[in-house]
Amino acid sequence: MKNLRNSILLGVLAFLFSCGENGKQHSSKIYIVTTTGMIADAVKNIADTLLEVEALMGPGVDPHLYKAKQSDTKKLLEADVVFYNGVHLEGKMAESLESLAKTKAVYAVADGIPESKLISTSQFSGTHDPHIWFDVNLWMDVAKYISHQLQKKYPEHQEHFKKNTEEYLKKLEEFNVWVTEEIKKVPDSVRILVTAHDAFGYFGRAYGMKVEGLQGISTVSEPGLKDITALVEHISQLKVKSIFMESSVSARFINAVVEGCKEKGHDLKLGGTLYSDAMGAAGTEDGTYLGMIRHNVNTIVGGLK
Ligand SMILES: [Zn+2]
Repeated sequence: MKNLRNSILLGVLAFLFSCGENGKQHSSKIYIVTTTGMIADAVKNIADTLLEVEALMGPGVDPHLYKAKQSDTKKLLEADVVFYNGVHLEGKMAESLESLAKTKAVYAVADGIPESKLISTSQFSGTHDPHIWFDVNLWMDVAKYISHQLQKKYPEHQEHFKKNTEEYLKKLEEFNVWVTEEIKKVPDSVRILVTAHDAFGYFGRAYGMKVEGLQGISTVSEPGLKDITALVEHISQLKVKSIFMESSVSARFINAVVEGCKEKGHDLKLGGTLYSDAMGAAGTEDGTYLGMIRHNVNTIVGGLK
């Protein structure tokens, strides 16, 4: 029923926008719309200036809670191809995206990763952790998948996409080695990453870090006093040096943990802010996928070493 309602809504909007006097606001290039900035960054690396790429979710935006605005619906309807993360990252947009997929090229990039490589979570029964961008190796699968879909849809640009993809994959491979080496600089006993929500499961698995999140995999439910007390106990026992903030999640629970540890006589420091579910400002180094991960790695290593 909801799907039907979404389809009708999209249909009506499509009709309204098609009646607009100027039509598309953007250039005459092939227009690709993505949900997160990380996906847009991958598309840009594969397509460079050949396509116009736009992400709906900017810096600091929490994709778990994000609801499509009217302007987003317009962009989605105008898009030639839509790429979204999938595996329930875009919790409030999933239905609209799935119904849009019936009428245009809409792809969940997580489909490019073999299911066996995804982390199962009990938080959504029978589903997986959506934070796939934090394992550079998995992100290479995503880049290959995006490239494959673009080559299929635009065979006239196949060589262009292929060449760029090869170069980008090489860069990602080298980068993956760098991340692995950097994290090794943190002594094994304190290689524990405590953050506001469980965004770093893939990161922990890929680079050998224990990960504790205060809010679980999604930010939809808030932590209770019991969760905070348990975490305070755990951190104080292990003498974890630093806890980290996240760019797209409220800091108040983190502050509660710092206060709790202080009461127990453990001086827990704020290790800095990590980019979790969104990149940094556009036009800056942190506003790219590589820059975002590099910032996180430097912050983590600096805070825990
Ligand atoms: Zn998240």
